[in-house]
Amino acid sequence: MIAPGATIGILGGGQLGRMLAMAAARLGYRAHIYSPEGSGPASEVSAEWTRGDYDDGEALARFAQGVDVVTFEFENIPAAPLRRLADHAPVHPNPAALEVAQDRLSEKTFVTDLGGTPAPFRAVDSLEALHEAAAALGLPAILKTRRFGYDGKGQARLLTADDIAPAWDAVAGAPAILEGFVPFEREFSIIAVRGADGAFAAWDAPDNRHADGILATSTVPAGGLIAAQAPEAIALAGRIADRLDYVGVLTCEFFATDTGPVFNEMAPRVHNSGHWTIEGAITCQFENHIRAICGLPLGATALSAPRAEMRNLIGAEADEWPAILADPTAHLHLYGKHEARPGRKMGHVTRLLF
Ligand code: AMP
Repeated sequence: MIAPGATIGILGGGQLGRMLAMAAARLGYRAHIYSPEGSGPASEVSAEWTRGDYDDGEALARFAQGVDVVTFEFENIPAAPLRRLADHAPVHPNPAALEVAQDRLSEKTFVTDLGGTPAPFRAVDSLEALHEAAAALGLPAILKTRRFGYDGKGQARLLTADDIAPAWDAVAGAPAILEGFVPFEREFSIIAVRGADGAFAAWDAPDNRHADGILATSTVPAGGLIAAQAPEAIALAGRIADRLDYVGVLTCEFFATDTGPVFNEMAPRVHNSGHWTIEGAITCQFENHIRAICGLPLGATALSAPRAEMRNLIGAEADEWPAILADPTAHLHLYGKHEARPGRKMGHVTRLLF
C-alpha cells in the first residue's frame, strides 16, 4: 500500500492529469507531472513538474526514482520507456494495457478473444488492401489509423467507391483498419475500476452524444437500450481488466445496437465520459483511480443523485461561463487553458437533477 503523503507520478499534464492531481491532493498525496510541455492544465495543481520527452529514458528514470507510483493520463505514450520505468517504481495500469489499447488491430483482436463483439474489421496496409477490405465489408465503412487516433482524428468515412482513394490519402498511407459502419441507436461507455486486490466496480453507463466526432454530453442514468446492454458490457470490461491484471480506471466505449453492445474502443485511463462522476457519484473516477494505484480500498461508484448531465465546453463555449454560473446548481469546471482553439476541450459543466 502507498500511504497518503507519498508522491504520485503522472505522465501527461492535461485536464485529466489536473483532475487526477486534484483527487490525489484531496487524499493527501502529492502529484508530480512528467510532460513534454513546459506547463499545462495540471501545472497549477501539482507539487512538481518535470519537462521531458516520453522517449528520454534517462529523464524518465530520474522522474521515476522521485515518485512512489507512476500512472498516465493518456495512451499515446511509447510503451517501451514505460516498461523501463517499472525498474524504479510500480507502474499502474500495467503497460501491457497501453500496448493493447494503442493499436486498434490488437485491441479488437484481444476483445474478440474475450467474447466481445467489435465492428466487423479488416487490417489495411495498402490501397489495394483497402479496395479488398471495402469489397469484403461493404460500404459505408470507416477507415481508421491503427495508432494515434482520438476524437475522430485519423479517420475517413467511405460512403461510395469514389471515397476509397481519397480516404487512403487522408490517413497518409499509415497502417489502418477498415471498420464496417455500425447502425447504432446510442453510444455509451463503461467506466470501470479494478483495485490492486482484484476488486472490480463500474459506474452507471452514460449515454454519450458526440458532435463533430468530439464528446458533447454524457447523461446518467441512460435508460432504454443502454441500460439493457450495460450489464453485458460491464462483464466484458471485467474480463478485459482481469486478463490484463489491470489496476486503475479502465474505459470501454460501446455502440448500443439492435443486436447487443458492439465494442468500439478502450482507453486505459480515466475518461471524458466519466467527468460527471466528480459530483454525480459517491466516489469519482479520479479518486478511485488514485485509490486503486495506491492499493487503497475502492470507494462506492453508485449515483449520488437521481440524474447527472455533463456537457463539454468546447472552444469558445467556455466563454459561456457567466451564464453557467448564473445557475446556482451548475458545477463549472474550467481547465485553465489559455487559448480557446476550435475543437479544444476547455472545460465542462455538470448538473445534478433531483
Ligand atoms: P472513435 O474515435 O473510434 O471513437 O470514433 C469516433 C466516433 O465516430 C464514434 O464515437 C462514433 O460516433 C463514430 N464511429 C466510429 N466508428 C464507427 C463505426 N464502426 N460505425 C459507426 N460509427 C462509428
